[in-house]
Amino acid sequence: MTGDYQPQVKTWENVDFAARRRARKEAKQKRQKSMLYGTIGLIVLVFLVSFLYKQSFGYVLALDDTVVAQVKDKKEAEGIWDDLIQEETQKFGKAVTPSKELTIEKAGKKIADFYAGDELKNLLKGQIGWLTEIYTVKVDGEPFFSLIEKNLVENILEEYRERYNVELDEDVELLSLGFKEEVAVVEELADIKNLDSIEKALDKLNTLKIANSEYEIKKGDNFWDIARKYETSTEELMQLNPDAKPEKLMPGQVILIKLGQPQITVQAVLETTVLESIPAPIKYIDDSSLLTNDRRVVEEGAPGEKEVVYKIIYENGFESVIEALQETILKEPVERVIKKGTRTVLSRGVGRNYGVVAASRITDNYGWRTHPITKVRTFHEGVDLAAPAGRSVFSYASGTVSFAGRSGGLGLAVYINHGNGLETRYGHLSSISVKQGQKVATGTIVGKVGSTGLSTGPHLHFEVRKNGVTQNPFNYI
Ligand SMILES: [Zn+2]
Repeated sequence: MTGDYQPQVKTWENVDFAARRRARKEAKQKRQKSMLYGTIGLIVLVFLVSFLYKQSFGYVLALDDTVVAQVKDKKEAEGIWDDLIQEETQKFGKAVTPSKELTIEKAGKKIADFYAGDELKNLLKGQIGWLTEIYTVKVDGEPFFSLIEKNLVENILEEYRERYNVELDEDVELLSLGFKEEVAVVEELADIKNLDSIEKALDKLNTLKIANSEYEIKKGDNFWDIARKYETSTEELMQLNPDAKPEKLMPGQVILIKLGQPQITVQAVLETTVLESIPAPIKYIDDSSLLTNDRRVVEEGAPGEKEVVYKIIYENGFESVIEALQETILKEPVERVIKKGTRTVLSRGVGRNYGVVAASRITDNYGWRTHPITKVRTFHEGVDLAAPAGRSVFSYASGTVSFAGRSGGLGLAVYINHGNGLETRYGHLSSISVKQGQKVATGTIVGKVGSTGLSTGPHLHFEVRKNGVTQNPFNYI
């Protein structure tokens, strides 16, 4: 090993102890040096081997923290991932992002199968979805349909809304045309699998939430019975079936009983101002001089006028709510005053209804009337009591006959003066039984019921005058 150390003849004389000590020291130093190099080499070797060993396990691929594969080539894996994104974006026509995040980490051991090339590509492709910005229509917070373009969604909703727009009269104002439900278009990053085609979206929109309920007409059916059976009204049936003729229902004909409910309700809110008449309030005054059921208008009264603002809500083309928002009275109505008879007993003598004649009914009251023959509005100065011709007419009270004969429109008539300015007159008689100047007692027959003068049929015209002014006869009989 050491070249400079030569064996010498061993004699005590030539032994150089100093040289031998030096040589030993040098040899020891050499040994120490070589041991150090060996240790370094070993350490380097261990590191190298362990590096190569580790290198042989490659990289672990995880999607959202779930290990899916192990690869030798990190660059290849990254390239495949980028290719997948590009291919899908191109295929879809809009930027898409994978639904899961890919992480690549150096592997310390083998924990999954090794993949590469197309096999790796297919593996990754099968494990992920694709996200993009989509527009979802939400009805009351629930997703209804989703499309890729915002303006497509808006157009579809707009068209749907217009379908139920209402035709407006000139004086009706459309306040709003919208949806009853809360309808929102939400932009969100979502899986492209959630997207609908336009056809599918329209289909969803046009499918009724609750189907129409229909009925097939049978022989003998009518709207009234059908309405009662199905707890609706004839008005609603007619509204739902504008083409059906209620009086001409044909067996086999199918009519709509109840309108189905669509997914989205279009609500049109209208406002209109209408002039309306206010009916005159009626005030009744009890009057004991009038017969029960007898009515006498004392004051005609007059209807008033008001302006009413109505809010009308149409739902899917059908009127659903009418509400008066505001009323402005333009003209107050004037009270109509009517006297109401309370008198039940009229007879002054036994068997002598109305005192002066046994009449069946009153055909004309005292007061203003349109004359049945002349059609002229005149004041009726007496009361007309219908009775068969020939029936006896009695004197109202004792007195003197002041006139007996023909008296214009009254025909054959008798006037009796009872004193104290009181006079009674009996008209349209068929015959007269008293003479002028004759004294009569209460109940004396003065003549017979007839239809002479201006008369439409047999009746007694009975008149009471106080100091020459006509009075309501019912205050006397
Ligand atoms: Zn009369």
